[in-house]
Amino acid sequence: MPPLRDVINEYELQAKKSLGQNFLTDLNLTSKIARSAGDLENSIIYEVGPGPGALTRGLLMNGASRVVAVEMDHRCITALSNVSESYDGALTVHEGDAMKIDELSLIGETNGKDIHIIANLPYNVGTALLVKWMTCEKWKPWFKSLTLMFQKEVGERIVAIPKTKAYGRLSVLCQYRADCKILFDIPRQAFIPPPKVTSCIVQITPRDEDENAPAQKTIERVVSAAFNQRRKMLRASLKGLGVDPLPKLNASSIKETARAEELSIDDFCRLALEYQK
Ligand code: SAM
Repeated sequence: MPPLRDVINEYELQAKKSLGQNFLTDLNLTSKIARSAGDLENSIIYEVGPGPGALTRGLLMNGASRVVAVEMDHRCITALSNVSESYDGALTVHEGDAMKIDELSLIGETNGKDIHIIANLPYNVGTALLVKWMTCEKWKPWFKSLTLMFQKEVGERIVAIPKTKAYGRLSVLCQYRADCKILFDIPRQAFIPPPKVTSCIVQITPRDEDENAPAQKTIERVVSAAFNQRRKMLRASLKGLGVDPLPKLNASSIKETARAEELSIDDFCRLALEYQK
């Protein structure tokens, strides 16, 4: 297959900002990302935004037997045809918006294989896609793991611990029922065009369902109210939930004067369970 720089030139894939396009070209790097995602051969990989195909090639070169990709940019669909042809039957590319797609219908029959989501996400919808996946009602979810590239600042928010500036709604939504870690950084220079900031690879592995965990909708409401006014004490910021917060805070052994960023994930779970009663 031609080098990625040649593909980008041949298909005139000037990066579109509106589609969050920054393309990788180094197959050693995309192989490293692919290998970090685990057993590719016995899984189905769902990739969002294959672009000219750097990560897609990395996945296929490292043994992926089935990659289902969704790409919004028609130019890239054409450019990817040489990858589909070279890896006979292993890659299917759908033109569409990943925000709107019902992934399971698209993937179809899995024959009992696990689905892993692996993607270099477009920065403009990256967080929204993550929230879409992490807020699905059914847990364990339909995917076994997420291995995703984000801007470093977003990765830091996902794995942040309490009492840090990065700790917020995204940290709690991701960590309360999944293990999250940053695997490694990707320098700006690895991309065409180089983005303004460093990126990183984040891996998120859903834990088994916990019967005692609060419902997703409830924890989301509580966390959103708490962090929407993160400088306020919880006795004030939680008023927006429509009931007196003091009994809820007392019953969950949380100080009414505490602020959202001081609460651990367990604190948020206990508090959400009180709101669920
Ligand atoms: N995977 C390629 C790589 O690593 O070089 C490209 C990554 S680029 C950061 C993001 C890709 O997502 C682009 O190809 C862009 O066209 C595509 N994209 C943007 N928004 C999308 C959406 N809503 N649904 C599907 N693909 C999208």
